[in-house]
Amino acid sequence: MKTIIEPFRIKTVEPIRLTTMEERQAFIKETHYNLFSLHSDDVMIDLLTDSGTAAMSSAQWAAIMNGDESYAGSPSFGRFEKAVKNLMSFKHIIPTHQGRAAEAILFSILGGAGKRIPSNTHFDTTRGNIEISGAIADDLVIEAGKDPSFIHPFKGNMDLEKLESYLQDFEELVPCVMLTITNNAGGGQPASMDNIRKTADLAAKFNKPFFIDGCRFAENAYFIQQREREFEDESIVEIVRTMFSFADGMTMSAKKDAFANIGGWLALNDDGLAQQARNRLIQTEGFPTYGGLAGRDLDAIAQGLKEIVDDDYLRYRIRTNEYISEGLDSMGIPVMKPAGGHAVFIDARKWLDHIEPLSYPGQSLAVALYEMGGIRGCEIGTVMFGISPDGTESAATMDLVRLAMPRRVYTQSHADYIVEVFEELTEIKQSLPGYRIVEQAPVMRHFTAKFEPKN
Ligand SMILES: *Cc1c(COP(=O)(O)O)cnc(C)c1O
Repeated sequence: MKTIIEPFRIKTVEPIRLTTMEERQAFIKETHYNLFSLHSDDVMIDLLTDSGTAAMSSAQWAAIMNGDESYAGSPSFGRFEKAVKNLMSFKHIIPTHQGRAAEAILFSILGGAGKRIPSNTHFDTTRGNIEISGAIADDLVIEAGKDPSFIHPFKGNMDLEKLESYLQDFEELVPCVMLTITNNAGGGQPASMDNIRKTADLAAKFNKPFFIDGCRFAENAYFIQQREREFEDESIVEIVRTMFSFADGMTMSAKKDAFANIGGWLALNDDGLAQQARNRLIQTEGFPTYGGLAGRDLDAIAQGLKEIVDDDYLRYRIRTNEYISEGLDSMGIPVMKPAGGHAVFIDARKWLDHIEPLSYPGQSLAVALYEMGGIRGCEIGTVMFGISPDGTESAATMDLVRLAMPRRVYTQSHADYIVEVFEELTEIKQSLPGYRIVEQAPVMRHFTAKFEPKN
């Protein structure tokens, strides 16, 4: 059978309000061409993020009704802890309201002025939490991971040679080694089991604890099963357990690979570190058996963790991105290869080569996708990264548009539609305008900037 069907039926539906191109042109003009300012009910297919946007299952909604809202010692915490430990056998599981809260706690303890923390690529919030502590966040992903069109099965791998000389150079300054799986900021690309193990070995050789940012652990495990010969006959659960067996702890956003709309955790083996983390948690998040979440949220996560490690779900999940990516590739649209675990990335600078980087080709494509098809993607390029703290502007390394796929939300006809919208854009791409920014905030300008088309 060549069609991979969605491995679920739909019990509750959320209507999509269909709009016309004329309406969308008016909506986006009203927001000054900023997609973050759109009302989400004016969007037909929302691919802004895969974070907190999953469709929960009927079993998760049932688990929510069983949530116990006791302040301390809730059985919901027991179910949550058991579900996490079933996959990641860390000694201490500390719930937080999101992934970034786990990071904030970890780096308030391990960070500090002058310290240096390596990873393949730190996610924005990880980097932010490291930097706010006064430490420096360093990205040591392999070179292949920086070239969007270069095909490599594990573009999220840590560059082990670089890591070794880094640890030699900065031995005194490094409190821990991190690895993000999949590598979100590097296009949702996986790290291999071999690389995870060798990264852990290097950390151990220098006596540094090794932490995994595990937000997309199940997608990473699926890539290992598909692409690393040694693991082709292992179940996802077995692969996940092996991945985390090399680590001393993890940070997690349950808004990604736990099918929850909110939540996260910090997991640790070290008793002393866990004690410090819980003290901090009580001040900033809440009591250690709920950590900024309601009991029902803990139950939704516990159930979600049982569902996310399903081979059939992961096959459908990863195939959806490949399917869209192949559709675009066959029309000659430059996409990141291979397709990432949670998103499809389009190289807008290359595709809209009549728009120079400082006229924001990524923004132009993102606006055109919305006007043409009601699709909301996200510019990841010069608008997001092109401004330095002193206010000078320069082209970012790349101008990409990210289409992040919410989990279990869209079906194959939505995927076909996305490809068709690109087909329509192919006809008119030469006429797509560059943009100029007419108003911007001093930091994180992409969220609120106002734009104007240049023609
Ligand atoms: C989303 C994400 C985080 C932060 O998690 P939040 O729940 O959004 O705070 C950290 N690391 C990675 C890799 C992520 O994708």
